[in-house]
Amino acid sequence: MKVTFLGTGTSQGIPVIGSTHPVCLSNNPKDKRLRVSVMVEWEDSTFVIDCGPDFRQQMLRANPEKIDALLFTHEHADHTAGLDDIRPFCFKQGELPIYAHQRVIEQLKIRFEYVFATENRYPGAPTVAINIIENKPFTINNLPIIPIDSLHYKLQVFGFRFDKFAYLTDIKTITKTELDKLKNLEVLVINALREKEHISHLNLEQALEIINIIKPKKAYLTHISHLLGFHDEVQQKLPKNVFLAYDQLEITI
Ligand SMILES: [Zn+2]
Ligand SMILES: [Zn+2]
Repeated sequence: MKVTFLGTGTSQGIPVIGSTHPVCLSNNPKDKRLRVSVMVEWEDSTFVIDCGPDFRQQMLRANPEKIDALLFTHEHADHTAGLDDIRPFCFKQGELPIYAHQRVIEQLKIRFEYVFATENRYPGAPTVAINIIENKPFTINNLPIIPIDSLHYKLQVFGFRFDKFAYLTDIKTITKTELDKLKNLEVLVINALREKEHISHLNLEQALEIINIIKPKKAYLTHISHLLGFHDEVQQKLPKNVFLAYDQLEITI
């Protein structure tokens, strides 16, 4: 399995438009973060989790030949706003299978009415095949995927476990039942926004606490704000099996 970090930034990305914060002015490519997304290549299937406003740029740089499924964690714009740019895949493959909670599909129908319209469709509009997921295991191309349910302040979000790899973003609280689904992982990806407390995101300390409970072999932090600091400085402070993810990082599991 190969995992490519397409984007590792929080909702505004890094640099933040107009910001003079030193991290936003950094020349280190590891301090430049597009909106959060990840591509998982497993057996012959390619999965992309979330489709934010940087999706086009992310697909140009990762350049997958096809996408077998697009999975959504939740409906926030930094995870969904790029949906129009799936069109090149639709033109090549036909309807693109999307997987999300029922509530997220309803939100997408409001935000992208023309994508889901059944009458008077514009011929170039994106086409999708809707797959509603609940908090129970499902398969795509016979590959088993386990949803992980958690809360982003009061909003339900899904993370996903693919074999020995799990991806959790935009979580703030998670129950013991859901943590129990994350045993024996090679790699856990989890969100860590910044050092200071935040109402809907784990901060660094809280992310490290969850990593310590789950005990994956390795953990990577994502959905990072410029306020967390410079990549190279933050990395030095982390435990030896915890890494700050960065855009275009590829890992093999
Ligand atoms: Zn987000
Ligand atoms: Zn969010």
